Amino acid sequence: MSNKKPYRGRFAPSPSGPLHFGSLVAALGSYLQAKSLQGIWQVRIDDIDPPREVAGATQDILETLQAYGLNWDGEVIYQSHRCQAYEKTLAQLADQKLTYACACTRKIIKQQGGVYLGHCRDKQLTLSGNSLRINLQKLGKPVSHFHDQLQGEVCFNSVETHEDFIIKRKDGLYAYNLAVVIDDINQAITEIVRGADLINTTGKQITLYQLLDAQAPKYIHLPVAVTSPGQKLSKQNHALAIDKENPVPTLLKALDFLGHTVTDNVDTTSCAKILEWAVKNWSLDKVPKQLEIQI
Ligand code: GLU
Ligand code: ZN
Repeated sequence: MSNKKPYRGRFAPSPSGPLHFGSLVAALGSYLQAKSLQGIWQVRIDDIDPPREVAGATQDILETLQAYGLNWDGEVIYQSHRCQAYEKTLAQLADQKLTYACACTRKIIKQQGGVYLGHCRDKQLTLSGNSLRINLQKLGKPVSHFHDQLQGEVCFNSVETHEDFIIKRKDGLYAYNLAVVIDDINQAITEIVRGADLINTTGKQITLYQLLDAQAPKYIHLPVAVTSPGQKLSKQNHALAIDKENPVPTLLKALDFLGHTVTDNVDTTSCAKILEWAVKNWSLDKVPKQLEIQI
């Protein structure tokens, strides 16, 4: 019997607006990687930041995925329903003295040179009104690099490696890095496929896997679409809003972006047909090993 864990992937959009071309690429890449390996592909709505949430965005994202034939397995998971699990983990980390409260405002950190250097680590501040940070000094060796299945070896700079990062914000909201790791562990995700705009969060996330005694998944960071160097697609960019009524041309464009150009003999009359071809022909070797691509 093989003891290899079955492949489980996910797409985890934040409901801060409708799906744009960049998020479609992440959805498509994670779907094809999972389905080409006969894996499970789940959708999770990362809705733990109400101030940034746009009314109706969740529904719109789910409808768009369906219009593009990107059908997920099982129920949609909502981070907003998972607070109990986050609190349980925070309590566990606190018991192990792996966290501490920090009163530094953005302004104070700026005055300290723009980098948080452990200012409150030994102050024993109370939690209320303060943010909560991970105490990296308790970790044997900080995470300075990881292997990405597409981009190869990824190294973090010394500041990124040593920063006692925030896991709960002073406004009481759970930090993205905390919630994402707890949920990916809970969903037994074996590989995370997402946009390279998140590549620098990966060190912090691997740190949390270590502190929680869990095995980190594999990572694939896909190139992100930019309009000019460093300029991500924005909601303001109307030319790139994706069409739910006529999805085929945009789906073909997203496949092309991922290095899978559909040839003339392929049936492109529906998203389902195109995806069937794409699942059969998907190969990570064809995906550009770039962090961003200008479109
Ligand atoms: N919810 C995050 C975002 O939309 C992505 C989470 C992830 O893929 O790790 O930026
Ligand atoms: Zn502080």
